Amino acid sequence: MSHKLFLLPGDGIGPEIMNEVKLIIDWMNSNVDVTFECDEGLVGGCAYDAHGVAISEEDMAKAITSDAVIFGAVGGPKWADVAYEARPEAGLLRLRKDLGLFANLRPALCYPALAESSALKRELVEGLDILIVRELTGGVYFGEPKEIVTLENGEQRAVDTQIYTTSEIKRIARVAFELAKTRSNRVASAEKHNVMRSGVLWKQVVSKIAAEEYPGTPLEHVLADNCAMQLVRNPKQYDVIVCDNLFGDILSDVAAMLTGSLGMLPSASLGAPDVVTGKRKAMYEPVHGSAPDIAGKGAANPIAMIASFSMALRYSFEMIKEAEMVDTAIANVLEKGLRTGDIAKAGDTVVSTKEMGAAVIAELNALK
Ligand code: NAD
Repeated sequence: MSHKLFLLPGDGIGPEIMNEVKLIIDWMNSNVDVTFECDEGLVGGCAYDAHGVAISEEDMAKAITSDAVIFGAVGGPKWADVAYEARPEAGLLRLRKDLGLFANLRPALCYPALAESSALKRELVEGLDILIVRELTGGVYFGEPKEIVTLENGEQRAVDTQIYTTSEIKRIARVAFELAKTRSNRVASAEKHNVMRSGVLWKQVVSKIAAEEYPGTPLEHVLADNCAMQLVRNPKQYDVIVCDNLFGDILSDVAAMLTGSLGMLPSASLGAPDVVTGKRKAMYEPVHGSAPDIAGKGAANPIAMIASFSMALRYSFEMIKEAEMVDTAIANVLEKGLRTGDIAKAGDTVVSTKEMGAAVIAELNALK
């Protein structure tokens, strides 16, 4: 079996961390009965330098026909004054929009070896494994009207519009319930049904999907503000949390910080299943940006990028065993004390991006 990957390393540390993923892909091609065919393109500032746009039409076409896009990071001070529509982030937004990536999956996993890096006490976060499923293409970030108008009395008024339709809520709810079945099988829906009409509809639709399609999966509704509090008070009570675009943005950042460093956090963005093949369009990327402050120094932590590829194995290719091997390899490397600068404590020996990548490969060899 062969899968087509489209690699978009991007800017800053993007190419450095992508190099380590390429080694993992090579390892898979040599050790597993599946072949990954890779093509590579430009996105962000480097695409602007080459083509004057944040992603070329040719690379968009390759992204659309690939089985999964593996994305590094974009942006940096070099492109601060580029026209708004050509700014590096426009490439990322275009990919999300044209691939129809409406479901953003952000796991918050606390490796026992890193429990000390969390802002919370070890016992609250050790072994934490939650998944935030955020609606990514609707809600208040996109709803119209979206404007700042000047009133007759000279005051200004800003408007953002929160809009959700039944079908938008149904499809994200189904993603959450399907994923819960592969995990601890619990879903919490975070919304504000007490003060927002969109929250009332969200609650009704998610409850109906649960009752009619997933009767075996316990569903809890939690007010989004209470959810933020509970994530800090007792995060391990959750398995899958499903929420709209705005609440998902905030809650996933809260959950992320429970686990320590930005350099450890992967993400996946999924589209609707194809009506013929059942395959979803998908893009996998670390949560962090292009880290211009450390770019080119070999200091970036490649784990978020490698863990994003592990999510591709799990969610695009159903290679669960291999995904678990990569996740175990990462945990073992951390257990052995290897630390890049972002996760090192005083007195730790700091390793480079390449050394961290090589250590993950060595663990994969030991596990096979
Ligand atoms: P950032 O995530 O790039 O960096 C924040 C801090 O975390 C920096 O100190 C950086 O060195 C550190 N860091 C991030 N990733 C790391 C890693 N893998 N290993 C070690 N340390 C790491 O955020 P920022 O500094 O606010 O933004 C820098 C640029 O990235 C900006 O141009 C911004 O627009 C862009 N950005 C892009 C994305 C994306 O491509 N998805 C996301 C966020 C920011």
